[in-house]
Amino acid sequence: MGTIRLMVVEDETIVSLDLQSRLKSMGYEVLDAVGTGEEAISKAGEHRPDLVLMDIGLRGNIDGVQAAEQIKKSYQIPVIYLTASSDEKTIQRAKLTEPFGYILKPFEDRELHSHIEIAVYKHGSETQLRQREERFSLAAQGTDDGLWDWNLDEDTIYFSPRWETMLGYSPGELQRDTGEWFGKVHPADRKRMKKSVIAFLRSDEQHFQLEYRIQHRNGEYRWMLTRGLGLRDSSGKVYRMAGSQTDITDRKLHDPMTGLPNRALFMDRLERALDRGSRDLEFSFAVLALKSDSFRDVTDSLGFDIGKELLSQFSDRLLDCVRKQDTVVNTGEGEFAILLEEINSVSNATHYVHQIQDVLRHPFKIGDRELYPSVSFGVALSETGYSHSGDLLSDAQTAMHRAEESGNGQCEVFDAAMRSTVLKRLSLESQLRRGIEREEFVLFYQPIVSIQDGSLVGFEALVRWQPEEGVIIPPGDFIPAAEDTGLIVPLERWVLWKACSQMRGWQALSSNTKLELSVNFSARQYHQSDLVGILETALLETGLEPEKLKLEITETTFLQNSESLNKMLSKIRDLNIQLHLDDFGTGYSSLSYLHRFPISLIKIDRSFVSQLDSNQETLLIVKAIANLGQNLHMKVTAEGIERPDQLQQIRLIKCDFGQGFLFSKPLNAQATEDLVVKGPNWMTDLENK
Ligand code: C2E
Ligand code: MG
Ligand code: MG
Repeated sequence: MGTIRLMVVEDETIVSLDLQSRLKSMGYEVLDAVGTGEEAISKAGEHRPDLVLMDIGLRGNIDGVQAAEQIKKSYQIPVIYLTASSDEKTIQRAKLTEPFGYILKPFEDRELHSHIEIAVYKHGSETQLRQREERFSLAAQGTDDGLWDWNLDEDTIYFSPRWETMLGYSPGELQRDTGEWFGKVHPADRKRMKKSVIAFLRSDEQHFQLEYRIQHRNGEYRWMLTRGLGLRDSSGKVYRMAGSQTDITDRKLHDPMTGLPNRALFMDRLERALDRGSRDLEFSFAVLALKSDSFRDVTDSLGFDIGKELLSQFSDRLLDCVRKQDTVVNTGEGEFAILLEEINSVSNATHYVHQIQDVLRHPFKIGDRELYPSVSFGVALSETGYSHSGDLLSDAQTAMHRAEESGNGQCEVFDAAMRSTVLKRLSLESQLRRGIEREEFVLFYQPIVSIQDGSLVGFEALVRWQPEEGVIIPPGDFIPAAEDTGLIVPLERWVLWKACSQMRGWQALSSNTKLELSVNFSARQYHQSDLVGILETALLETGLEPEKLKLEITETTFLQNSESLNKMLSKIRDLNIQLHLDDFGTGYSSLSYLHRFPISLIKIDRSFVSQLDSNQETLLIVKAIANLGQNLHMKVTAEGIERPDQLQQIRLIKCDFGQGFLFSKPLNAQATEDLVVKGPNWMTDLENK
């Protein structure tokens, strides 16, 4: 520090002059010397000395104590009183101005010198400290974070006002002990928190960080990020920890893409609604699940950005049409759920569904496109009686899937019947899994006949489940569950291998060298990158020629990513295995598939064949399909020919092949073998009728 700059306040001129000269000789700079309290105040403001030496008894209206008080208040300049007054009253008054010294006249130079030095030094360090504290408190006020300071030796903790208000308490309301903190931590997080604090104390780390939930005064849990520093003594033991607490609930509980609450928050609210419902019998609510395939379709066909935009507009609309107390969540994969509070009847719930349907019915404008996503809804009501929040959501989703199956834009309400279907399905799945392990399946074969000459051209392999002797379950009863669970993949691989090897055996018995085998392959198979290898191995091991194997593929297969699908299908065709499009006319029936993918034959679905006689339009459609096939150099098979008149029509339309009960039902392996050996011909059927 440079020269100390002083100001003298003394009304006795001679005393003042003497003092100034003594100060100068001690090496101090005297900026000014004044004689009244008023002057003292104004000059102190002007000169800003490091210290004021103040007489108490002054001329004028105010005395030295009053002047000192003012100077301290306005300019924070320290004061030392130099006075002859030693009466108790004056001392008491002076004390309140917190002077840096009170020296009785007369005094020695040495005494004055030491007082000045100490006063200036002390004031300097106090100023620094105060500035630091101010900075800290400004920072504490300025941030949204709460601050805490834990003295581990005393086990006391300081919470900043913000720390308390973040949790809904008034500043100072909480006790200064750690129990106030840890006692409010979510039970599920308490152990983890304790563990990480202990680990920190035992470590030699400086920084501490943790995310956890803590209960707000209103009962809600908030997610917090707490970050702290530990001060360690020479032995490394932490004696103090201090840090901040940030509310990260929004970040933690909201989906960054849509801004909607995420699943964790939704489940939390659902939990609380359930809890409230169990205490308050008047309170009931519903969970609404909704789903649209459009997001996936749009993303697949128009790209990620458009899909994202649709998702965000869709979310906004949902938010717009629910009430404030309702919670909307994006459960992923184009599915949403809404927690509707205060819903006490099915009609009440469906009323909201209708409102939402109305809002979603308007087209979504994205760029110059207008999109109309179709949405299926499912509802589960709390009144049905639940103790687990997860069950409510999954029941709503079950109802939603039911609605989806029955057509888009529908709404289903979950009921007990659905639950038993779900349970049945679950047990079906586990039985199916076991069935596959134990190979409880058998293959039946249905002949395929040439419409031209009535000869047998091959068989379609059709799987059945035989869980025990004498019980045969048709594929319609287990294939959908097998597809949903992915069990279809191992199942069909077994079918492929079994059919190829049986077929290879029959070829050896038959004089007909052309016999072909058709195997049904679900859309799932084409997701498997090792499919080509599996096919090759099956052919190699069984010895069936690839030209003899046909894979029946359905239109749903084309819904997946066309680029990689096309590659896969081309590789299969390169193996010389042909692809047949099964059940044509029942699916999406987009003719563009026929151009885009290497298909060599179309199988007209049996629903068309069965309507040939009754419906003139059907006849035209089947004719058109047959023509189309011919134009694209594809063959055409008619499925489900049951009666001679249907066969007649099919002949006129010029289909290549026929399959149906009129020729033969699917046969078990032994009957198939007998038929092959016999070398059948259906020419008479063709001619006679
Ligand atoms: P699909 O591939 O269209 O098979 C033809 C189905 O029509 C067979 O039923 C057959 O018995 C039946 N059918 C044949 N001719 C007639 C007829 O004249 N009238 C009537 N009413 N029905 C006839 P099945 O064996 O019950 O198979 C049903 C479906 O199960 C098959 O339809 C196929 O989609 C599926 N399926 C069978 N095996 C497999 C398999 O290994 N994998 C896959 N993904 N699906 C399979
Ligand atoms: Mg088939
Ligand atoms: Mg079919």
